[in-house]
Amino acid sequence: MRRLALALSLQLLTAVACSHDRRAAAPQADAKQQHTIKLTAVGDILLGDASQSRLDREGYDYPFRAIAATLASSDVVFGNLEGPITEQTKALDGDKEYVYKSKPAAAAALHAAHVGLLNLANNHALDHGDEGLLDTIRNLDEAGVRHFGAGKGRAEAIGGEVVEVAGIKIGFLGFMEKYGPYGTTYPNYFAKGQHPGVAELHERWLREAIGAMRPRVDVLIVSCHWGKNYAEVTKTQQRYGRLAAELGADLVIGHHPHVAQGLEVHAGVPIVYSLGNFTFGSKGRFDQLDPLLRRSWIAEITVSDRRVAAIDLIPLEVDNKVVHYQPRVATDVDLAAMVQKLNEPFGTAMEISGTKAHLEVAARELAPR
Ligand SMILES: [Zn+2]
Repeated sequence: MRRLALALSLQLLTAVACSHDRRAAAPQADAKQQHTIKLTAVGDILLGDASQSRLDREGYDYPFRAIAATLASSDVVFGNLEGPITEQTKALDGDKEYVYKSKPAAAAALHAAHVGLLNLANNHALDHGDEGLLDTIRNLDEAGVRHFGAGKGRAEAIGGEVVEVAGIKIGFLGFMEKYGPYGTTYPNYFAKGQHPGVAELHERWLREAIGAMRPRVDVLIVSCHWGKNYAEVTKTQQRYGRLAAELGADLVIGHHPHVAQGLEVHAGVPIVYSLGNFTFGSKGRFDQLDPLLRRSWIAEITVSDRRVAAIDLIPLEVDNKVVHYQPRVATDVDLAAMVQKLNEPFGTAMEISGTKAHLEVAARELAPR
């Protein structure tokens, strides 16, 4: 009797499995699957400086080992390259407190780690002057890693980059907030005419860049280097994040504060104010922070039916005194409390499931642009 019951249930299981297989193989399901792609956004990357001896000893794949599967399962991975890839020795300015650079091997390592695109609009892109930036562009081009947010002149800096996956065109624009010595002590930091530099986070630049990119793409991502280190979201971040959303971005992704910040939905557009560090070659000051505020995010973006349909934020352990330049998913953080704390100013509720905080993004009526 028992054996018969077992045999029957096995038959049932087989029947269920077969019908599932048939469903999975149906052309309709295939077509639907092709219209859903996953993009992965990571924060600040610096392969060098304090992490150099580990890279030399362990290899350039070392920083990515704990997160390799997540990156490899994504259709497009993009991040912020915080420092030039160059062998130049002359710094932008002798007084600059932190001057970074990576060896040319970094470009191939990023490509091998599935990083497809990098924002260059940040406060370290010109740490070794124009030549350092031009070397970076050449090294990334040679390694097959695309880039945006800086260029040989203004048009290139704000021109952005477009990638196409499964027939879906995704545009990337990058901008850096003007602050401190950038644009003053370092007068040529921002691209101008035919002069190399980074794109400035400024209403006029945003309008021009978004206006030109919008008609060319299905999904437009604006990447902003802004805010203050280890701090809360600033008024400037909020002003420009909302403006980018109103001007036609589908997603705004921020970086620079070294730590994760909250997510706001403005005019139906998600703004992730800061991803925080990814693999970053300086020790950092994380142990001075509230434990809930020490982490970074990886953002997984689901694009479905040619629009941003969902975002999952995954907390990352990035304190280099703990992870030694090899970020890993933070499994011991109270994710619900972290999301509550970071999103509180914006009232954004997210669904917590395991190590992911999930947000469904509603389809929105697109205003004439
Ligand atoms: Zn920065």
